[in-house]
Amino acid sequence: MIETKGGIRKKLLPIVILPIILLSCLITVIGVSLFYGFYTQSIRNELISTTDTLIDCLDFAIGGDYQYENEMLFKGDLNITDSTMLLRIKEQSGIDITFFWNDLRIMTTIEDEYGISAVGTKAANRVKEVVLRQGQSFSSKDLSINGRKYIGYYVPLKNTGGEIVGMIFAGKQKGLVYDKITEVIIWFATFSAIMIVISVFITLKFSSNMIADINSINHFLKAISEGNLRSTLGNRVVNRKDEIGSIGIYALKMRDNLQKLIERDALTELYNRRSCNTMLSAISQRNELYCVVMCDIDFFKKVNDTYGHDAGDYVLQEVSDLIKKNVSEYGFASRWGGEEFLLVYKLRYEDTVARTRQLRQSILDHDFTYEKTKMDITMTFGVADGTEFIRYENVIKKADEKLYVGKNNGRNQVVA
Ligand code: GH3
Ligand code: MG
Ligand code: MG
Repeated sequence: MIETKGGIRKKLLPIVILPIILLSCLITVIGVSLFYGFYTQSIRNELISTTDTLIDCLDFAIGGDYQYENEMLFKGDLNITDSTMLLRIKEQSGIDITFFWNDLRIMTTIEDEYGISAVGTKAANRVKEVVLRQGQSFSSKDLSINGRKYIGYYVPLKNTGGEIVGMIFAGKQKGLVYDKITEVIIWFATFSAIMIVISVFITLKFSSNMIADINSINHFLKAISEGNLRSTLGNRVVNRKDEIGSIGIYALKMRDNLQKLIERDALTELYNRRSCNTMLSAISQRNELYCVVMCDIDFFKKVNDTYGHDAGDYVLQEVSDLIKKNVSEYGFASRWGGEEFLLVYKLRYEDTVARTRQLRQSILDHDFTYEKTKMDITMTFGVADGTEFIRYENVIKKADEKLYVGKNNGRNQVVA
């Protein structure tokens, strides 16, 4: 067998899997960037509503202006320097809150990686500029506070007269956002992996018949290339309605034509002498019942000389057709040489003699007319019994001897 590296199945899989992987990557990139946009926007909205609610609640619950004295923040007369509420918000929503007096952090849930509070540190200059000087809110997706990345929102903290005394900050650590995005990527990757497994399964399942059929054609052609013309192809292959089925049909036709070329005589389509010997040898080895008939057209040289070579060929074909009809059910016939035929009947001797007599008569009665010229054709036959000799060559010899007896006794006869 010629080494087939990789195999069709291995080649099919990348064709199926690669587009899925590419598509999954594309969907993941688009999906993650859309998700990032929506998610950061929703965080921003959450931060805005948290700071607004906090300011509204303080204004609604406690009257008076904000004041900062002795490291304590007052609203009116009430000391509100208590982080409990801020910690509760962080616990429930993951949002860090900071109160600034001017640019100074005086109350915050933000800590560094060692758990040290950011109280006492100051806001960045650009935040100060926008919120404290210009009195506007400030939001950013890319803040760095105390060594950590934040999505954050700052609003000015105003007293009743509109004077800006500080800021409130609300922010979410970007790590939390990245965790969510990682979750989304894992979700997409899992989905893609499941899709790949399903596709591989479907591909393998649906390609297995196809590959099995290609393999049977492969084995069939290998057998033929080694000269085994008796090899055949399963029905499933030739019944396919695709290119593989068509290859199977042509392979079978090729085998049949090769078989004809090797085993048959081109003019008469009877077996040739070589394949007749092979089959006869097999029959005698199996000790099967058989008889051999050697026969020859009488005065055939005269046919050629009188009517031409083409007329001679016509007679050979007509005689062969009559022989085929007579022998077909009971054995086989071959063109032994020029106008000489060897017939094998798998019959008892008496039955063979009877059929041979019928054949002689049918040739005698047949109308051999070539190009409006009628020819009288007869044949002489010698019949030998296969059971008489161990070697089939001796049976043939015996039939040949009888044929010559017939030739010498006036022809157109069966010598049994
Ligand atoms: P007999 O009755 O003794 O057999 O006489 P015959 O003339 O048939 O025998 P002979 O052996 O003298 O002649 C056989 C002829 O058959 C000679 C040859 O040219 C012719 N022949 C052999 N093969 C072919 C063929 O394929 N086509 C044609 N047309 N003639 C052939
Ligand atoms: Mg002859
Ligand atoms: Mg002859």
